Amino acid sequence: MQAPIAGKTVTQWKKEYPLLEQMMLTEEVFWTNPHYDYSSGQNSNMSLTGTDIDEAEQRLYRFAPYIAAVFPETRPAGGMIESPLVKIDQMRLKLEKTYHQKITGSLYLKCDSHLPISGSVKARGGIYEVLKVAEQVARKNNMLPPEDQYACLAGDAYKKLFSQYAIIVGSTGNLGLSIGIMGAALGFRVIVHMSADARQWKKELLRSKGVQVVEHRSDYTEAVKAGRREAQQSPASHFVDDENSRDLFLGYAVAARRLKRQLEKMNIPVDQNHPLFVYLPCGVGGGPGGITFGLKTVFKDHVHCFFAEPTHSPAMLLGLMTGLHDKVSVQDFGIDNMTAADGLAVGRPSGFVGKTLEQWISGVFTVDDRHLYLLLKRLADSEKLYLEPSALAGCAGPVKLLAAEAGKQYLEKCSLSHIMHHATHIVWATGGSMVPAEVMEGFYQKGATFAQENG
Ligand SMILES: *Cc1c(COP(=O)(O)O)cnc(C)c1O
Repeated sequence: MQAPIAGKTVTQWKKEYPLLEQMMLTEEVFWTNPHYDYSSGQNSNMSLTGTDIDEAEQRLYRFAPYIAAVFPETRPAGGMIESPLVKIDQMRLKLEKTYHQKITGSLYLKCDSHLPISGSVKARGGIYEVLKVAEQVARKNNMLPPEDQYACLAGDAYKKLFSQYAIIVGSTGNLGLSIGIMGAALGFRVIVHMSADARQWKKELLRSKGVQVVEHRSDYTEAVKAGRREAQQSPASHFVDDENSRDLFLGYAVAARRLKRQLEKMNIPVDQNHPLFVYLPCGVGGGPGGITFGLKTVFKDHVHCFFAEPTHSPAMLLGLMTGLHDKVSVQDFGIDNMTAADGLAVGRPSGFVGKTLEQWISGVFTVDDRHLYLLLKRLADSEKLYLEPSALAGCAGPVKLLAAEAGKQYLEKCSLSHIMHHATHIVWATGGSMVPAEVMEGFYQKGATFAQENG
């Protein structure tokens, strides 16, 4: 007998939301959001605006010369941390064959898996927040350089200054990696509280850069708590709050502006007759949430954002569907939060993201771990692109949208069914390029095993 959740028994919750039955059996589901604003009017829950994204974009421009100086791999792009958008026609054929479902419209991969510096989507939000902290510390100490001379932040005087400050974060791995690499490069003391899901190589890489890694046997929520507690006790410190941070969110949101320019360059229209569908792997929600916020301010109701979660960690889906947001965890419903998708192994969603984006998230779907491995192999075989399991979660999105009854109804309601051959589907690949070769080989072999089973 499970304890009541927000005053109702599990049986009552199931009666109200029948999809819970399948979720509790960790079956794959496709859910569309009844609170979605089909008219795409003002979002009254949103306290941030386009001006906030402008400010974040400007900050990243100011830091570009510094980034280019310290991370040579960013020099060709002038110190911009950005990833390519690639058409994946071969993968599209594989997906159609695997799922016995035709994909109408064209299919692209947004390769945040190959973002410079830290090889995951966290190179957007995480690095942005560290840069903002550096600016604040420099200003406080009357050492802020002129806007066009940020390259000097690489100097010893700044390393010495930043070494008096600590940056603390709780993570399943990739956020720690981004904060750690960027923070250490600037000279900050960085302390990363890692959940039990975090991969060994991520911890070792951070330690090699002088980052202090605290290992926890518990899951992400507990690791974050431990980090928050430590930061409260350390005066000269900054806590990167993955569950609530506006700065992380804005760093992610900048992606939308850049994507708009990329689409224009590639002559891919997004308008009333050319809808854009984006499929985003979701952990606590900051990454996909920030990107969705950015995309909605740019493309309004011409963009449709779907989040993807592992069947064992459907935290955002549970929070949105029940309206309980961060007041509920998957464990409350007997779901174990055990998944190979370490970047998505989150049992309790961000309340900030769920509440502010309630009207803007089109839906959420879940993917079985075995399918993540299978898709990993399919993408490697077809496009020679190697992602980590978490990053494959979005891949199943287009087939699911087009095959699921709820997906079809969504397209009808948006009056899009008849123009889907003009649609653009973007699968957001969120990590992978830094995975060591032998670890990747293990992922691939797992995919091969499941491929055999799949026939
Ligand atoms: C963190 C992460 C995500 C999701 O971002 P959240 O902000 O946790 O929702 C997706 N994919 C990968 C690989 C990640 O590391």
